Amino acid sequence: MSNTNFPELIWYNGKIIPWQEATVHIVCHAIHYGSSVFEGVRCYDTPKGPAIFRLQEHTRRLFDSAKIYRFEIPFTAEEINQGCKDIVKDNNLKSAYLRPFAFMGAHNLGLNPPKVPLETSIIALNWGSYLGEESLEQGVDAAITSWNRLAPNTMPTGAKAGGNYLSSILITTEAKRHGYVEGIGLDSNGCISEGAGENIFVIRDGVINTPPLTSGILPGITRSTIMTLAKEMGYTVNEQAMPREALYLADEVFMCGTAAEVVPVRSVDQIKVGDGTRGPITEAIQKAYFGLFNGTTEDKWGWLSYIND
Ligand code: PMP
Repeated sequence: MSNTNFPELIWYNGKIIPWQEATVHIVCHAIHYGSSVFEGVRCYDTPKGPAIFRLQEHTRRLFDSAKIYRFEIPFTAEEINQGCKDIVKDNNLKSAYLRPFAFMGAHNLGLNPPKVPLETSIIALNWGSYLGEESLEQGVDAAITSWNRLAPNTMPTGAKAGGNYLSSILITTEAKRHGYVEGIGLDSNGCISEGAGENIFVIRDGVINTPPLTSGILPGITRSTIMTLAKEMGYTVNEQAMPREALYLADEVFMCGTAAEVVPVRSVDQIKVGDGTRGPITEAIQKAYFGLFNGTTEDKWGWLSYIND
């Protein structure tokens, strides 16, 4: 592979191998049916050295996703955690976006997958902020898309499974086709759910609200981080179902995720959010969030796993 942005090594089924050797057969169940589970994790270059953010929680969610589908990951959580650290170190990276990924391999194409363990890999990429560095300050224009998020008891949104991302692709591509940076999906009741790859927060009169797990969302780890930080900062934070007009009437809206980090939303469906610029609560939360990585927010929770420990 000639793309020099890709690092040289990949963790694959417990071994570190050259990037170009980490291939699969075309008769791979996951390619045909989306039978995979994965994580997106970030390693930040902190003043105390490279550290992976909330590694234990991400690995736990990886195993939770597999459990929902009755898939077996043939490694322990500790082995996955160590693999994440090793692949950053062995590629000489200081910061990275990590993709632990476990998939049903090349066994047969029956829908009922054979009772075999998943193939497991960890990819480390050099990735900036997903919606663009400038978006962190300027905010993004978002739109509610015609595609809803997955309804309860269709596919579990609590699992971060490959197949779910066809929903995200519909949402984000529709928004982009119409000139927006990101799409927001509603849940099957028409309440606000989440962005294509981000959870969403809505602020009015100083109160911070976010949709509950029953609104078709992925239980985001950035979401949980922000809820903890915001409460610590003295804000009231509620998980509650919200109608779409809550986005139009908000003083501030932001989206968050491991890849996107914390991004202000400056308009929804061409209606300005507040005065159309990043609001003060969003800015304070961004400062607290990025402070975890530049050392200005104390990591009271042990969220950083230093790769050299
Ligand atoms: N929702 C969806 C659909 C996502 O893909 C992501 C990114 N993983 C999120 C929310 C945010 O989750 P996290 O903060 O754990 O990255």
